[in-house]
Amino acid sequence: MALMDKDLLKGKKALVVGIANEHSIAYGCAKMLKKAGADLAITYLNDKAKPFVDKIADELEPSIYLKCDVTSEQNVVNVFKEIENKWQGIDILVHSIAFAPKKDLQGPLVRCSKEGFLMAMDISCHSFIHMANLASPLMKKGGTLFAMSFHGSQKIVEHYNLMGPVKAALESAVRYMAFELGSQNIRVITISPGPVKTRAASGLEEFDKLIQRAQESSPLKSLADIFDIGAMVTYLSTDYAKNITGDTIYIDAGFHLLG
Ligand code: NAD
Repeated sequence: MALMDKDLLKGKKALVVGIANEHSIAYGCAKMLKKAGADLAITYLNDKAKPFVDKIADELEPSIYLKCDVTSEQNVVNVFKEIENKWQGIDILVHSIAFAPKKDLQGPLVRCSKEGFLMAMDISCHSFIHMANLASPLMKKGGTLFAMSFHGSQKIVEHYNLMGPVKAALESAVRYMAFELGSQNIRVITISPGPVKTRAASGLEEFDKLIQRAQESSPLKSLADIFDIGAMVTYLSTDYAKNITGDTIYIDAGFHLLG
C-alpha cells in the first residue's frame, strides 16, 4: 500500500511512550511508524518492565531508549533533554499510557478515592499535557501529538468506571491544545480504539464480555488490532492529514455508533 511506503515518514522523529509488551497499542504504533521510515525513541516504565520492552527495542532499534515513569519529573525531563541533544527536534509524540489503582477502577465511580482519582488523572491525562508542553518547543516545523482514549469517555460503558471521566478530560485537553498549538502547525489528535486485549485492559472487570460484544455487534463484525491503530497514527502523522486536528478518531469497526 502506497501509504505505508517505507519512506513515508523518512527523516521524521517519533517518541512513543507506553510500550509494556508486544500486545501494547504503543508497540503497534511504534512498529508501523518505523515501517514508514520514522526514527524512534521509546521508553519503559521501570526495571520490572524493562526485560519485556528490551525485546521490542531489539526488534525496533530505537535511536533513544530510556526509562520514563511519568510520575517522575526527572524521568520526563530527561527524555526530552535526550531528544534535544540527539535529534535537536521531534515530529511525532504518541502518548499511550493509562493507569488507575485497581481498587478504584473496579468499583463504582462514586466510591473511588480522591487519591486514586488524582493518580489516574495525573498519569493518564496530565502527563500528556505536560509532554505536549515539552515537545512543542522542539517541533520547530510543526508536528503531531497523539493521545489514546476509549469511547467510555462519551457514553456509559459498563465497568469503565473511573476511566470514563479521566478519558473525557483527556479528549477535552486534546481539543484545547489543538487550538493553542495550531498556529505552530502542531496538530493534536485523540485516537479512540475499540477494545484490545492488553495488560491495561485486563484491569477492567468483564473485559472479555466487552470484547466479545464489540466483535459480534460492531457494523464490521471485527476488532481493530494494534497494527490497525499504528497504521492510522502513521497516516495521521503525514501531510495527507494536514487539516485534521482536535478530533477523536475512532478505530473500532464502528462499534461506538451503537451507543
Ligand atoms: P498496555 O498495558 O500495553 O499499556 C499501558 C501503558 O501505560 C504501559 O506501557 C504502562 O507501562 C504505561 N504506564 C502506566 N503507568 C505509567 C507511568 N506512571 N509512567 C509511564 N508509563 C506508565 O495497555 P494498552 O491497552 O496498550 O494501553 C495504552 C493506551 O490505550 C491507554 O491510554 C489505554 O487507556 C488506551 N486504550 C486501550 C484500549 C484497550 O482496549 N486496550 C482501548 C482504548 C484505549
